[in-house]
Amino acid sequence: MQPGLSAGPAGFALARRRLVEHLYAGGVRDTRVLAAFEAVPRHLLVPEALRGQAYRDTPLPIGEKQTISAPAVVAAMTEAMELEGHEQVLEIGTGSGYQAAILSQLAARIVSIERIPKLASTSRSALDTLGVTNVIVYLGDGTQGRPQEAPYDRVVVTAGGPEIPRPLLGQLAMGGMLVGPFGPRGKQELVRMRRTGQTRFTREVLGPCQFVDLIGENGWAA
Ligand code: SAM
Repeated sequence: MQPGLSAGPAGFALARRRLVEHLYAGGVRDTRVLAAFEAVPRHLLVPEALRGQAYRDTPLPIGEKQTISAPAVVAAMTEAMELEGHEQVLEIGTGSGYQAAILSQLAARIVSIERIPKLASTSRSALDTLGVTNVIVYLGDGTQGRPQEAPYDRVVVTAGGPEIPRPLLGQLAMGGMLVGPFGPRGKQELVRMRRTGQTRFTREVLGPCQFVDLIGENGWAA
């Protein structure tokens, strides 16, 4: 646990408050996003042995050689999605379920896809334990999206791919946005794509970043 904080509910709540102050100091201004970080108990989405570190702004291992992203990264991606509350969101890479739990506070429905069976099942149970009812986790290759439930107002990709998977752009609603890390390994850029027409998109680079691999048909080879 962080110095001066107890490992009980009050200690975790205080640690969360400090994390939110840290995110604010780092430039996060969307009050709905900050409230979501205050509400979601990150310590219940990391391995038990790491709970004491859950509110540090750092990625942590979640097993299967994967990580839960650092809170500031999750916050930047979430803020870039400009959610109002009515959206249907597709998340690629459920991992721990943390980003999905944050999104559950900010959008209407989250369809989340994870390729590793163990993580799909632990994140599903963790989200159930938190009482999250508007996230559905599917096991599969997220680089193909989930056309059965398209279109999506927002798509967020939480693993780094060589390029933006085309099926994900095709499943975006008109005016919708995709946010994710793309480019060569170790030199990715966080990119935001906005659909402006049937085959037209605008592209913005939000900054450099580093993510675990997006593996699949339209990602890196396994
Ligand atoms: N959003 C996660 C969280 O809040 O913990 C981030 C987890 S981690 C940075 C990225 C995740 O993407 C890993 O769990 C990995 O297994 C998953 N992943 C990688 N390629 C994938 C694919 N093609 N489809 C679905 N999940 C994928």
